This record gives sequence, structure tokens and C-alpha cells, in this order.
Amino acid sequence: MLVKSVLQTMYIKSCDNSERSIIARIIISLLLINVAVVTSENVYNSTHGNGIPLKKWNREKNRARNIEFTHTTSNEEVTHENVPKPNRSHNSDGNVLDVIIIGAGWAGIAAAVSLESQGYNCKVLEARDRIGGRSRTVTQWWEGSNIPMDLGSNWVHSPTGNPIFDLVQQNNIPHSTAEENQKLYQANNNGAFDDNYISSKWEQLYDEGFYPYQEKQQENTDEDISLRDAVNGYDTQSNLDAFDESALEMILRTSAEMEYAASVENLSLWWWNTYGWDYGGDDAFLYQGYTALFEAHAAPVQSKIETQAVVSKINYKKGKKVKVTYVNADGAKQIIRAKKVLVTVPLGVLKAKSIKFRPNLPKKHRNAIRQIGMGTLNKIYMIWKKTDVFWPYNTQWFSELPKRESNFEFYNPISFNGGLPFIVGFVAGDEAVYLEEQFGDNQNEYESQMQQRAMLTLRNMYGNNIPNPEKIMVTKWATDTFSRGSYSYNKVGMNKNARNRLKTPVKSRIYLAGEATSAYYGTTHGAYLSGKEAANKIMS
Ligand SMILES: Cc1cc2nc3c(=O)[nH]c(=O)nc-3n(C[C@H](O)[C@H](O)[C@H](O)COP(=O)(O)OP(=O)(O)OC[C@H]3O[C@@H](n4cnc5c(N)ncnc54)[C@H](O)[C@@H]3O)c2cc1C
Repeated sequence: MLVKSVLQTMYIKSCDNSERSIIARIIISLLLINVAVVTSENVYNSTHGNGIPLKKWNREKNRARNIEFTHTTSNEEVTHENVPKPNRSHNSDGNVLDVIIIGAGWAGIAAAVSLESQGYNCKVLEARDRIGGRSRTVTQWWEGSNIPMDLGSNWVHSPTGNPIFDLVQQNNIPHSTAEENQKLYQANNNGAFDDNYISSKWEQLYDEGFYPYQEKQQENTDEDISLRDAVNGYDTQSNLDAFDESALEMILRTSAEMEYAASVENLSLWWWNTYGWDYGGDDAFLYQGYTALFEAHAAPVQSKIETQAVVSKINYKKGKKVKVTYVNADGAKQIIRAKKVLVTVPLGVLKAKSIKFRPNLPKKHRNAIRQIGMGTLNKIYMIWKKTDVFWPYNTQWFSELPKRESNFEFYNPISFNGGLPFIVGFVAGDEAVYLEEQFGDNQNEYESQMQQRAMLTLRNMYGNNIPNPEKIMVTKWATDTFSRGSYSYNKVGMNKNARNRLKTPVKSRIYLAGEATSAYYGTTHGAYLSGKEAANKIMS
């Protein structure tokens, strides 16, 4: 805990070299004293008997590196006690709104709820024919039950004190906070590795091997390099045999690439695992899907949302009200005006310049948009007959230990969803992008490629006799017009302040929010908190 509190007030990369080396020495000594605590707190789920790392989405593993972000706390958000009261009458001009919010995801709706509750007249423009953005559940009727399939978010990470989990509880959303365990399999249907063996391999290759190596590199490099360069350096220095090299690759895939939706080639060595200080507790899995939660949250502002409203231009010329141009559900061009505009579209949409800003966004915003990476994580839901279930009932995560050309990881919620016979395969980073770019135009081919690759891994683990799934559902986030990626990550060469810069208000009229602007990037609570923060700025 000591390490945590010291590090919370220090941020090495923000200091000059002499300060850095003093602080680094203090931290290294503290780490040496506390290494056992840090290891158990951040890499393994300390309450987990077999020492297998708590699976992805658990941000606790992001050790000792936080970015100085200003975020209000969840309690403040929930009670609205800290929301400044408006001191003016709204909507003096009947045609001019107080705020136009672009995007009806967690960020946009969180802001709308705050603003509307304080008497601000808002309108939310959403391009899709539905709300929720990257939180969306679809269902498949199967053997007498509905199978819920989340295209995007599934978990509420570190729920203790997390505002999204407060909403889960307030709305009685079914969830499991059971510990999740993981098995890593040997190749060629030779069964799972023994948990103790995996635990010691993890310790040898990652906790005591690669992790401290890359920490030293973080401190000793004057220019950022990719995490891949650091892995190569470590491989050379430690002379790993072929199995260990391949095992390290798989460990990095499961603990970094799947987590950050980016390949090690693109992750920044300096910032790959920086993260806001997290809340606590085992992740909550919403086994009936995220949509019910989102809809309950959005209910108070439902009448303020226009769907199928694709925004193409924001004109914020000096001295005039901000004009937003969009195409509505009938294909008609609309122009509406407001005193302020809050943009919550995903980073990928900003990168693609799908919305024109007149004048252009300032340089620091444009640089931030360029520097922050937009990652890809895709899923394949695979449904079998109940009688065909071949995977272990009580193991939530499984994958192969040796890395292969194609590596899917699998999630199995059967033990807490009432026995629904499906698993979810995940693929991240360059492989996910390649699959979409190469085959995405042809849905059948894309589905077939996703299934073949997922089945290749499953058959390596469980043998050639397992049947193909009866039904599948695949996601395509990289080429989704209104997302252009799954969520943001810290890209090699990125400025550490990029996310803060992205959310700086422009001339007190254009505000930006969304997961990419948050220290808790890549999560629903990050998006939600960013929306609340922007609303507070708008009202101040
Ligand atoms: C595969 C996947 C798995 C994930 N898993 C988790 C998880 O388990 N737990 C977790 O906490 N987070 C997870 N996330 C991340 C989480 O879903 C996002 O961080 C969060 O939903 C982002 O919310 P947002 O409001 O920032 O953006 P969005 O939800 O993307 O909302 C932005 C909205 O803007 C709209 N828009 C885009 N362009 C326009 C336009 N031109 N005009 C009008 N509207 C436009 C979009 O349609 C969208 O609805 C996952 C994401 C993905 C993709």
C-alpha cells in the first residue's frame, strides 16, 4: 500500500532526469521492500487459491503507473451533490439549445442526465438506430432460452466504488462477481498445464523476468520504443529457449494485447500500462448483457435523444452560436444551434475526420487524436447444443500456452448463466484488424475465417472430435463506421498528456468526452466519468 500512495503523488516521466533518477531509486527501494505485496496485488488475484492471474479487464494488474488525471469520484457523481447550480435562465432563445451532445453512449448519456437534471435544455444526436454505443446486447433464441451476446462491454471492472456498479445495484441488474479462473492448455490435445506449473512459469517469465526488465527500460530510454522492441531485448538478454519464448508471447497476449486491444508492436513501452487508480473488487460480469443497464440509465433523457442522426459538421465560428449539421432518419439535412456542443464520438471517428470542425480543432487536440491509438478487440460467440458441451464447466478462461499464428482466447460463463451452452472467443490487435480488413467485406467469409481460427485453437486444446458450433455471431469493430475500433490504447510515441489535451474545452464552446479522454480509457466507467466531468465544466 505504501508503494501505491507514494506513486500516486509521483510520476516519473513528468520529471527531469535528475529528479527521475532520485525518484526511481526511492521507488525501486520501496518496490524491493514491497515486492511481494505488489506482485500479489497487481498480477494475481490475491484471494485466488491457485495463483492463476485474474483474467483480463482487471485493471489492478496495472502496477505503479498512474497518470495525473482529475476525475470526480463516483459518489459525487451519483448524488449530484457537486454539480454546480445554474445561475441563469436557460433557453432564452427558443431556437437555440443550451447543449447539443453528439453520441448516445455512456459519456453522452451521463452528461445529458446531469445537464437535464440541472435544467439545461439538451439534445442528443446519435448516428445509430439505437443508443448504447459500444455497450450493446443482442440475443439469439436457442434451445428454449435467449442467449445474450454483448457486442462490446461485458464486465464492470473493479466494481467497489465504481459508478457503473452503483447503477447495476440501483437497477437490480443480474451479475456475477464470482472469481474467474483460467487454464492454459498444452498443444495437441495434451490437456491443461498444472496450475502450479503455470504459476511458476508466469513468475519466472513475467513477474521476475520481463516485467522488471521493461520497467528498467522505461527509465533508461530517452525515446519511447514499442513494447515489442522491449520484448526482443529481453529475449536476447535472457537467452530463452523456444518454449519459454513462445510462452512469454502468450502471457503478453493474454495480459497486455487482449487487455489493451493492441499488439505489442504498437503499445508504448513508456505508457502501455499507465492507468487511473482503480476501484477494487472482483469484476462483475453482467451475464444477461449490458443493454438493460444502459437503458435504465438513459431513461430520464430518452425523449431528448434523436437516433439515426449522423453529424457531419460542427461550426463554432467566433461570436455565433455553435451550428451542428446532421442528416436525419429521413435522409434530410438538418442544422441546429446551441450555446455549447459536447462531442463524445469514439476516437476512431475523430481520427477518420467523419465530422468536420469549422474552424479546425486546435493543434493540441489534433495531435492528441493522432497520438492516442485506437485498438481492436473482436469476439466470436459460438453456440452448441447442450449435449455437445465439451469444455470444463467451472473454468471461465482458457487458451493455449504456446503462441501460434492465430490465437483466440475463450470465455465460458456457463457456470453462472444457468447452463447456456456457449463460449466467447476473443481476438485482439493486428490479427483482429487483419481479419476485418481482409475478409470483412464478405460477411460469410469473415464468419468462416473467425470460426476456422477459433476452432483451430479449440481443437488443439480439446481434440479433433469436437463439433463445429451450431450458431455463431461475430463482431467487426475496426470497420464499424461509428466506432472505427474497439477502444483506445497508449500508442508508441504518444505524449503522456494526450488524453488530458483531448478533453480541454475549446473556446468554452466545444467540449470533448468519451473513453479516450479518460484515465480509465477502454471502460464504461471511464466513459461515464468523462461525460460527468464535461457536464460539470459546461455548467461551471
Ligand atoms: C469488444 C469490446 C469489449 C469491451 N469490454 C468492456 C468491458 O468488459 N468492460 C468495460 O468497462 N468496457 C469495455 N469496453 C469498452 C466500453 O464499451 C467503452 O469504453 C464505452 O462503451 C465507450 O463509451 P463512449 O460513450 O465513450 O463511446 P460510445 O459508446 O462509442 O458512444 C459514442 C456514440 O457516438 C456515436 N457516433 C459516432 N459517430 C457519430 C456521428 N457522426 N454522429 C452522431 N453520433 C455518432 C456512436 O454511434 C456511439 O453511439 C469494451 C469495448 C469493446 C468494443
